[in-house]
Amino acid sequence: MTAHIIDGLALSRKLRTQIATEAQQLTAQGRRPGLAVILVGDNPASQVYVRNKIKACEDTGIHSVLEKFDASLSETELLARIAALNADPRIHGILVQLPLPGHIDEQKVIEAISPAKDVDGFHVASAGALLTGLPGGFWPCTPHGCLQMLDDIGYELRGKHAVVVGRSNIVGKPMALMLLARSATVTICHSATPDLAHFTRDADVIVAAVGKRGLITRDMVKPGAVVIDVGMNRDDHGKLCGDVDFAGVSEVAGWITPVPGGVGPMTITMLLANTIESARRTTA
Ligand code: NDP
Repeated sequence: MTAHIIDGLALSRKLRTQIATEAQQLTAQGRRPGLAVILVGDNPASQVYVRNKIKACEDTGIHSVLEKFDASLSETELLARIAALNADPRIHGILVQLPLPGHIDEQKVIEAISPAKDVDGFHVASAGALLTGLPGGFWPCTPHGCLQMLDDIGYELRGKHAVVVGRSNIVGKPMALMLLARSATVTICHSATPDLAHFTRDADVIVAAVGKRGLITRDMVKPGAVVIDVGMNRDDHGKLCGDVDFAGVSEVAGWITPVPGGVGPMTITMLLANTIESARRTTA
């Protein structure tokens, strides 16, 4: 068997075309969606991520503001900037690029963002809304993007066994809750799981969100399973790769996401979608 590829780039292109149309409509109603991105320090990976996010806004007609600060910025100064953006009616989404310099308390900064503008979905109010199924909040972009990919291939999650590998607050845990909300039977594996393959071999859907290349191998995957690879690692030649041994696993899986070109572009797409949704929730 050779797995079908779930093309995150193609799906992103399709969704971003819809997002651009919605941005235009909202702009015509006097509420142009706006995203503020805050970058503190000069982490090279963060600079690339931020640049890509700003470019994606420009391409879709979303107003964007990039606020760059020196690594010496104090926590008090950062909180003051967030307070100003919370009060700015042109801004519907606020994203603070992580990681922050060590002297700044990340959780405190995330909680300072108004839940109404929490387009990253990291605020405890967003996490609570996802956990309870109550309205409000925003879903974290990466797992939401994974769910969109499953929807795009018309995959029915109800009654299926989904195994999420990784339990971070930004990927693993919210992914598990989203799959549960779709009535999948969900198993969450992590670094203390003694026999990972025991669980993955039984999975109809595997979401790998660990950060270890080659973790998921062909023998760990049930024939026909859907394999979503969130991992972002470098191989020996510095090339981007995921957590899944793509060549081996694609011989047994039914569907698989590539790295690059899979979950990565979907993450930014869902950030744009959350910004649109936030603008839609405001009154003109
Ligand atoms: P974290 O480091 O926060 O979490 C990694 C998780 O993997 C932890 O829960 C850890 O368990 C678990 N883990 C570690 N080793 C093993 C193992 N051997 N077997 C099973 N589980 C294990 O990472 P993130 O969730 O932030 O990110 C995960 C990966 O996804 C990274 O490669 C990251 O770069 C990538 N990523 C990609 C994005 C994209 O847009 N494509 C966006 C966000 C992340 P424990 O909790 O016990 O320590």
